[in-house]
Amino acid sequence: MGKLRTAHGDIDTPCFMPVGTQGTVKTLSPRELEECGAQITLSNAYHLFLRPGREVIKKAGGLHKFMSWQKPILTDSGGYQIFSLALLRKVNDKGVEFQSHIDGLKHFLTPEDVIGIQNDLGSDILMPLDECVHYPCAKDHAEIAMKRTVDWARRSKSVARGNRRLLFGIVQGATYEDLRKECVHQLTDIDFDGFAIGGVSVGEPKNLRYNIVNLVADLLPQDYPRYLMGVGLAEDIIEAVESGADMFDCVVPTRYGRNGSAFTSKGKLTIRNSPYREDFRPLDIECGCYTCKNFSRAYLRHLFNTEEILGLRLVSLHNVYFYLGLMRKIREAIAQDRFREFKKDFLSKYNNKG
Ligand SMILES: [Zn+2]
Repeated sequence: MGKLRTAHGDIDTPCFMPVGTQGTVKTLSPRELEECGAQITLSNAYHLFLRPGREVIKKAGGLHKFMSWQKPILTDSGGYQIFSLALLRKVNDKGVEFQSHIDGLKHFLTPEDVIGIQNDLGSDILMPLDECVHYPCAKDHAEIAMKRTVDWARRSKSVARGNRRLLFGIVQGATYEDLRKECVHQLTDIDFDGFAIGGVSVGEPKNLRYNIVNLVADLLPQDYPRYLMGVGLAEDIIEAVESGADMFDCVVPTRYGRNGSAFTSKGKLTIRNSPYREDFRPLDIECGCYTCKNFSRAYLRHLFNTEEILGLRLVSLHNVYFYLGLMRKIREAIAQDRFREFKKDFLSKYNNKG
């Protein structure tokens, strides 16, 4: 357990960062996020660079003002999006050329440009451009991408950042232990404000992912924040906390929320299902969120079946609250030196739905 200091406030870790790719956590207002206990949100430099454009956000006075969120913001560089969404991408050591997935326009971005964009956004935590590979990935290709990622991270660090803006290094190296080790070694040599474990949750089997996360989290300096990118489900977060990861982000709470899937202390619940037609209990009897305090499963089911927007909002809100509540409980358990017990209790209830 720790505290991460940023220009827009302190963050207690382990923490979960609700994802607001486009400068909004889908369907939720900043006030609702605060009420859920969010300490930090995540946005994406690639998406905001394409729309509305860095100049618009700079003129607005930065992303905090633009989206009316006064707490910390971490921006992802968009490396992952360039490698997964963009069309016709060409990478070389200088940077990456790609076509926008929105209008097909060509762009060329260097690692230095990507830091410049995040400076314009006014992020508290900046991520360098990295080269992401898919799973499975041949070792020679993974090695080139890892070395390029390190080189780009070094160049990113040389770009001036605003006062108290943090820069993390991203560990790549696919599923190859020696590449991951070398990457950690080189990044810690350069020194960053924190470190991220990238290139996981890209289709690899779960046990392989656990091994890599375990290895990398263990190799990284313990007194720096360790951010596991894009993971995930409650059980994966708990597992990764045990390995030493202490920052997380994932679209799952809001994406599932919009589909009518709620995370509860007894596991996942699909609100459209017929057993909930006359179920007047809240989504989760143990939950203190606005949705659970005021609405029944039967009503939420009705909202989804009639395609009412309020349904998407209420289940998203509950899910975000559930995730942030989970992190709060994890922090309490760590502080009281009973994390193992907490993990066992939580998972047995969550998996058995009993
Ligand atoms: Zn709730």
